[in-house]
Amino acid sequence: MTDLQATLDSIYADIQPRIGEGKVADYIPELAKVDPKQFGMAIVTVDGKVYRVGNADTAFSIQSISKVFMLTLALGKVGEGLWKRVGREPSGSAFNSIVQLEHESGIPRNPFINAGAIAVSDVVMAGHAPREAIGELLRFVRYLADDESITIDDKVARSETQTGYRNFALANFMRAYRNLDHPVDHVLGVYFHQCALSMSCEQLARAGLFLAARGSNPTTGHSVVSPKRARRINALMLTCGHYDGSGDFAYHVGLPGKSGVGGGIFAVAPGIASIAVWSPGLNKVGNSQLGAAALEMLAARTGWSVFGD
Ligand code: GLU
Repeated sequence: MTDLQATLDSIYADIQPRIGEGKVADYIPELAKVDPKQFGMAIVTVDGKVYRVGNADTAFSIQSISKVFMLTLALGKVGEGLWKRVGREPSGSAFNSIVQLEHESGIPRNPFINAGAIAVSDVVMAGHAPREAIGELLRFVRYLADDESITIDDKVARSETQTGYRNFALANFMRAYRNLDHPVDHVLGVYFHQCALSMSCEQLARAGLFLAARGSNPTTGHSVVSPKRARRINALMLTCGHYDGSGDFAYHVGLPGKSGVGGGIFAVAPGIASIAVWSPGLNKVGNSQLGAAALEMLAARTGWSVFGD
């Protein structure tokens, strides 16, 4: 068995000279203020052991990683019926692309591009005021991580509301195709707040542990989803979790994962561990540059790739 703390320490030593690489997302003004010279990583194994390195306890804006938790909630509400509203195919386009929506009659390609996630938020809102849907997500994430201190950063949510022109365009487009049931500003209110969830690597790895452990969180004993659903969410993360860099991530890392423009990446080694890494500098397709590099090192040094060691 690999000594995981030694592995994390060796990754940190190799990453340290590169800290600050990549470009912080600046299209959301509040994210542009984040110091790029940060790196943290945490692993939680299915037997509950936690390993950390660097800024693993610093809360950051998880952005699109929240789409995994919202998808889990939506599947819990409407089951496989969700797939009438959103597809399951990689997009091959940028996370905020609008072109495919027109070709596919307002049905987004997958739940992890922005349009898909907005449709998923709309599903979770059914029967709720926007505030209640946000509260439901926050309670769910706190329950998953067993940590009541997790919060939503209102400044980030406000910053995005003021500048999210493309997301308004996507949502209006889907509403025109009747693929949104609620008013655009309500759905986006929920979407912007979910993206503004603020969590540390350790909190994120704990919250996502159920996906590494057949749908149940072994540290809390909570059963979250069935093993089949956990497997399917992992499949979606593997094929669609890194925007238009999903193929590259599978090639280099070989783990289901979801990235966010805040610089976080959440990844799953099924049956073994959940992993979160954070470094704000992004590569050209919007994934954390050092986060992906660190996960590639982890997969190589542990043999955890789902494609074999
Ligand atoms: N809130 C961001 C947006 O909608 C999320 C982007 C991301 O992390 O992919 O632009």
